[in-house]
Amino acid sequence: MTIHAPKRDILPDLAAAIGEKHVLSAETDMAPYLVEERGLYRGEALAVARPGSTEEVAEVVRICARAGVPIVAQSGNTGLVGGGVPFGGIVLSLARLDRVRAVDPVNATMTVEAGCILARVQEAADAAGAFFPLSLGSEGSCRIGGNLATNAGGTAVLRYGNARELTLGLEVVLADGRIWNGLKGLRKDNTGYDLKHLFIGSEGTLGIITAAVLKLFPKPRLRATAFVAVDTPHAALTLFERLRAAHGDQLTAFEYIPRFGLEMVLRHAPGAVRPLESEYPGYALIELSSPQDHADLAEALETILGAALEDGLIQDATIAASEAQANALWHLRESLSEVQRQEGGSIKHDVAVPVSRVADFIDAASAACEAAMPGLRVCAFGHVGDGNVHFNLSQPVGMDKAAFIAEWGRFNRIIHDIVHEMGGSIAAEHGVGLIKRDELVHYKDPVAIDLMRAVKAALDPQGILNPGKVVPSAGPEILDAIPRAVR
Ligand SMILES: Cc1cc2nc3c(=O)[nH]c(=O)nc-3n(C[C@H](O)[C@H](O)[C@H](O)COP(=O)(O)OP(=O)(O)OC[C@H]3O[C@@H](n4cnc5c(N)ncnc54)[C@H](O)[C@@H]3O)c2cc1C
Repeated sequence: MTIHAPKRDILPDLAAAIGEKHVLSAETDMAPYLVEERGLYRGEALAVARPGSTEEVAEVVRICARAGVPIVAQSGNTGLVGGGVPFGGIVLSLARLDRVRAVDPVNATMTVEAGCILARVQEAADAAGAFFPLSLGSEGSCRIGGNLATNAGGTAVLRYGNARELTLGLEVVLADGRIWNGLKGLRKDNTGYDLKHLFIGSEGTLGIITAAVLKLFPKPRLRATAFVAVDTPHAALTLFERLRAAHGDQLTAFEYIPRFGLEMVLRHAPGAVRPLESEYPGYALIELSSPQDHADLAEALETILGAALEDGLIQDATIAASEAQANALWHLRESLSEVQRQEGGSIKHDVAVPVSRVADFIDAASAACEAAMPGLRVCAFGHVGDGNVHFNLSQPVGMDKAAFIAEWGRFNRIIHDIVHEMGGSIAAEHGVGLIKRDELVHYKDPVAIDLMRAVKAALDPQGILNPGKVVPSAGPEILDAIPRAVR
């Protein structure tokens, strides 16, 4: 299925621009670039271009623009919403742009290229005596360009913010091949529109991010990590409020895990160890951290959790006594997304509501989904401190997987209606891509949709950058050609 037939063969031009070996067109070479993480979509492309510099990215874009060929940018291809899957045109891989260009410890910034793997960016910051806080389960393979293009979140948003808040400057190749050099490391710059924010979170639909100036922070020298048992999501939320009131910015993570989630991890994740003796309806993974090495965070955590135990707010708790124990607790949380596929089909929703409504949301959506399909297993987990819930559904035991997945649209409506009614967002941190494109148009303010289309038309008048993703902006021809989002 091809969206646009190219007006002419651009492969020779691409090969001349970036070298023949960096233009992949054999089916086997292209295969990993045509599927997405969860296997929900399989695309097709004329070629995969792997330029090695910003100038080469610009030349690839110019060649495609002249021929009217669509371009789908890809960094680590770990995205979960189908945004990086091509349906015709070329894949432009940023993987070869993987240099750390500069570190400025006094300005507390580093300038990195889009293809740097997130874990390498963290390591480079560490080697410079600083800390880059963006942290995701996929950090060993996702790349910073993709993190910025999706405005990635992760486990440290509570303290440090998401990718948008960690970025001071960008370098972007525009749809006509011009290079915008916005690589400024400024904390104040009111010279008109803040253009970087248009590109961050635009999922490859407005420009190709080639480099970024990122914020660095002091290294946390102390951390205290606890795993706590709670009876309800409401109890978890009350505990969160207490910790935030007592510790402010030292509260770096507060993650909720339901009993079904922990049981799945213990069943399937290698090396996972039960953290508390008994089983409970839910759990919270809590982390306090500080750049000061004289604070006694573990003692502070013990005091606050001791009081919560006495009040009956929590049922049990363990505080990690070593780095290894803390890592073992985090391993439980980080394995959650991965293990779910071993329980058969799963229908996933990455949503946000105001923090004050998180527990209400989990209760209401769980009840509505369980009523809609007896035997359904709800795994609502995630970044409670950010209001971001991964509201995932595992198929009833014994049900046919395909029949379950076919129900995705019905559950979208049930869950997203509740999210909408609570003033939430149907796309919290993974983005819109293809999977939520139609849902976005259903729920988002029509004026906002018009503005998004106007921005798209201004920056990409030919509609060649990741067409049909995020918000449909082209005619019915493209809409028909791209598979409908899972309904
Ligand atoms: C196990 C696991 C855990 C995850 N945990 C989290 C989490 O906690 N929080 C979270 O936010 N996400 C999470 N994700 C989702 C995913 O890792 C993030 O969305 C990540 O930011 C994507 O980065 P990437 O390099 O893989 O991007 P890709 O998948 O390559 O691309 C994602 C989108 O961005 C576009 N794009 C890519 N590079 C560029 C570029 N240079 N310029 C312009 N557009 C571009 C693509 O076209 C696509 O639309 C997880 C995924 C997995 C598999």
